[in-house]
Formats: sequence, structure tokens, C-alpha cells
Amino acid sequence: MAPEVARKLESPATCILCGVCHAAMDDPGEVKPSALVKGLQLALDPRDVLGAARLQLMKVLRDILRFFIKNLPEKCPKRITVPEDICQV
Ligand code: SF4
Repeated sequence: MAPEVARKLESPATCILCGVCHAAMDDPGEVKPSALVKGLQLALDPRDVLGAARLQLMKVLRDILRFFIKNLPEKCPKRITVPEDICQV
């Protein structure tokens, strides 16, 4: 795996599925943060056969992605970040 890809996966891979982000955020829609983080991690992983199609299957809206990119680092106890270029996936 290329180092730049591994760097993108590193932060979401540390999610411990604690659910704090879910509890701390105003309702961002049907997608729950911890599930979103795991889904984003897989969508960014070149070993995942679904790739960008995974985001469509998850029905993740662009404005929800932007919401998480902006707010997740300050809410998450693991300071997880979502790469901004996920919106281009
Ligand atoms: S708060 Fe962070 S570690 Fe906890 S579920 Fe959300 S993204 Fe994962």
C-alpha cells in the first residue's frame, strides 16, 4: 500500500466505535457517525472491491460528509479526522 494511502486510512482505522460522536452531534441524518467512519475507511481502502460505490450504497450525502469533515475532530475522543478528498471519491 502506498504511504499516502496508508496515511489516509490511519485516522479512521483508530475508531473504537464508542458512539460519542453520535451522542455529541445534532442529528446529521440517518447515517450514524461510527458507521460512517468505518464505511469511509473501507471506501478509501484500495483493497475494498466496492470503493466509491460503497459511499453510494451507504447513501452518504455530500453535505453529511462535509459536516463530518468539519465537526468530527473536535467531538471524537480519538480525534479522528475524515480526509477532505473523500468528497471526490
Ligand atoms: S467518537 Fe470517534 S472513536 Fe468514537 S465512534 Fe465516533 S469516530 Fe469512532
